[in-house]
Amino acid sequence: MRHTVPTVGLVPYSFFCPKEFRYLCTMRYADIILPLPLEGTFTYSIPSPLREKVECGMRVIVPVGKTKRYIGIVAAMHDTEPAFTCRNIEQVLDSVPFVLPQQLELWQWMADYYLCPLGDIYKAALPGSLRSLERLRQKTERWVRLSDNIREESDLHAALDAQRRAPLRKRLLEAFIHLTDIGSDTFPLQKQSDTYTVSVDVLLNDANATTTALNNLVKQGILVIYEKAVKAQAPLIEHMPTQSPHPLTSTQQETLKQIRHLHGTKRVVLLRGVTSSGKTEIYIHLIEETLRRGGQVLYLLPEIALTVQMTDRLRSIFGNRLGVYHSRYSDTERENIWRRQCSEHPYDVIIGARSAVFLPFRHLQLVIIDEEHDANLHQSEPSPRYHARSVAIMLAQFTDPSVKVLLGSATPCAESYRNAQQGKYGYVQLLKRHLDLPLPRTVIVDIKDLSRRKMMRGMFSPVLLEAMHAALAKGRQVIVFRNHRGYAPVFECNDCGWTPHCTQCDTTLTLHRRTNSLTCHTCGRLYTIPAVCPVCKGTHIRTRGYGTEKVEDTLTTLFPQTKILRMDLDNTRTRHAHERLIEQFSRGEAQILVGTQMVTKGFDFDGVDIVAIVDADAMLNIPDFRAAEQGFAMMLQVSGRSGRRREQGQVFLQTKDTGSKVIRQVVDNDYEGFMNDLLEERRAFAYPPFTHLIYIYIRHRDERLAEEASAMMASMLSRQLPMPVLGPDKPSTGRVRQEHIRKIVIKDNGAIPRTQLRQLLRQARTELLNDARFKNVYLYFEVDP
Ligand code: ADP
Ligand code: ZN
Ligand code: ZN
Repeated sequence: MRHTVPTVGLVPYSFFCPKEFRYLCTMRYADIILPLPLEGTFTYSIPSPLREKVECGMRVIVPVGKTKRYIGIVAAMHDTEPAFTCRNIEQVLDSVPFVLPQQLELWQWMADYYLCPLGDIYKAALPGSLRSLERLRQKTERWVRLSDNIREESDLHAALDAQRRAPLRKRLLEAFIHLTDIGSDTFPLQKQSDTYTVSVDVLLNDANATTTALNNLVKQGILVIYEKAVKAQAPLIEHMPTQSPHPLTSTQQETLKQIRHLHGTKRVVLLRGVTSSGKTEIYIHLIEETLRRGGQVLYLLPEIALTVQMTDRLRSIFGNRLGVYHSRYSDTERENIWRRQCSEHPYDVIIGARSAVFLPFRHLQLVIIDEEHDANLHQSEPSPRYHARSVAIMLAQFTDPSVKVLLGSATPCAESYRNAQQGKYGYVQLLKRHLDLPLPRTVIVDIKDLSRRKMMRGMFSPVLLEAMHAALAKGRQVIVFRNHRGYAPVFECNDCGWTPHCTQCDTTLTLHRRTNSLTCHTCGRLYTIPAVCPVCKGTHIRTRGYGTEKVEDTLTTLFPQTKILRMDLDNTRTRHAHERLIEQFSRGEAQILVGTQMVTKGFDFDGVDIVAIVDADAMLNIPDFRAAEQGFAMMLQVSGRSGRRREQGQVFLQTKDTGSKVIRQVVDNDYEGFMNDLLEERRAFAYPPFTHLIYIYIRHRDERLAEEASAMMASMLSRQLPMPVLGPDKPSTGRVRQEHIRKIVIKDNGAIPRTQLRQLLRQARTELLNDARFKNVYLYFEVDP
């Protein structure tokens, strides 16, 4: 990179492109954001023919190094001649800005606050296809249709059957059938075969499959790939019937009035509403009001709560004014939404998981963050490592002082709760369920005692089984929650105690019966199951513990007549698999749903009477300072899935620690008691929200180098920072994908201003990486983990 020099440490306001210059811009230089993991922007000169065309936020093509070209974003334009000769912008790609000034400001804030490269934020924010030069040159797109060999329905079945031994190809073919909806037609096909097509991109993305699998299906004469001209997506203005929202109950109305009132003086309002109190109904009314004023709304929620149930509910009211933005969507789909947001007819409401916070909104007036306590709103891998709650609040702030934020949860997180207590946020509570339905009754089951008396059947207590039988006999449904996927987490030789480990990571492998493999839950590698112990050649290999697969198997033996569904990461990798499971359960096609935390969020099923938490302790005994908070929230969330329509729901909470205070608080639904205890503890041990944490990770393939680099970093920081610097320590998974990891923890107690702290951290990193020994060390920060 001979001609480009990063301009490090830009002040955020240099990002403002003064409005008066936007139309008569004769600036000679532009600072460009490039998709590179480097700090700051890169200065290029604007050749005179382009000067009138280019604006801040537009995409441009620039040369980098000897041969490379990238699509970058114009962050600022100026007339300050750099101290080096800079190269020319080659081409301006857009006629309107693709990234708005408030977004540029937000990106810069994120890079600074989260101590991460601006290029990483650019990459996370903009759909890949908008950043790809290849895509730009592409005039055609590859699409898939069914081959002419498939004439009868039986041909399709035979084709599926032929993939028995190739799960990936089978999944791909199933995804094709589902996406094209070909299964709904009658064979021989009534409609033209070109009705049933899908782009390669969308298909592979949905099935989470590879080109190889697709090419194999083509070789087998089942599918055909063909080229189709790329069409710029015209904004969809299809008609869609809409319903009006339910009228609010008087309690809900009162709550809405309070929210409006508090928004008069506070940007952020926190709504604590117990499960099924009608929070979503209140959001709907607020959205409607905002749309009436001509504003746009961003509705963020954690990925797993972004279900079809949720989007259907909103779509029935907002029709085609609602856009859904999902990380499982393909680049093309996301590009279309992005383009539409820049057009004259943007979606007025966007519902999406954390990455939706990056979309452009010209008339944003309200941001709703539902399940604001949820850990899924935080991204810790890959960079940028950010919390969507904080970023959304900043987006509101950078957009306009009048943009309001509403945080909602049945169990707000400690930070938000404290902000509300201190008056930084407005605080509203809604403590009654809709229709005055009682909250579920929770029964504590002492599984320690029952195991001692040999009364457990697998992981199930007699009282739970009895209640399940009774509910099922009445035609009601049951949710069984176990937050561990796979069959068994421990697999060991009974003779010598050997357990299998991942060769790439410091993790033991989990047994998965469905795929018949041992799996590393850290890197995803699969291993075959050994028949004999590789150490002592013994054949007595046993498993301990249980995951969702084993729970499902046990239930199958205990309830042979009952249809059981399982829902966890392993069987919801495709977008449609997830939706299908939810549909099946809500239509009553199955009576028991077993799952990980995926079953705790946002479901609104009529038929559920019983929720079983098979192992409460497993959620609380995780070595992380947030474990208790998250375990508590998850238990209340999953409990809230029961008794949402008719009778009082019942929750069975199995634990070995019946005396535990947290368990008591779950049973009593005592959020405030729990939170006050938690805050006291956090204060005593100087944890958030009383300090800000910054984790520093150092990775290298050579353990000694990781060790030395982290020791040097820690000693530098302890000397420079007037606050606790802990470590370096080896994290609980000390090696991931062959890289050794060390971690340093900084407890920012406010002794120096945070801007100064960040400055010192950046300097320390530069100093470390300037040491020749450590130049290949990978060092990154995680702020507010
Ligand atoms: P929460 O988001 O607090 O869990 P929801 O908004 O999902 O609660 O409400 C729970 C259930 O009660 C939903 O099925 C919802 O449609 C219904 N409900 C809530 N308030 C009303 C209302 N005012 N009129 C009709 N149905 C309502
Ligand atoms: Zn052995
Ligand atoms: Zn691994």
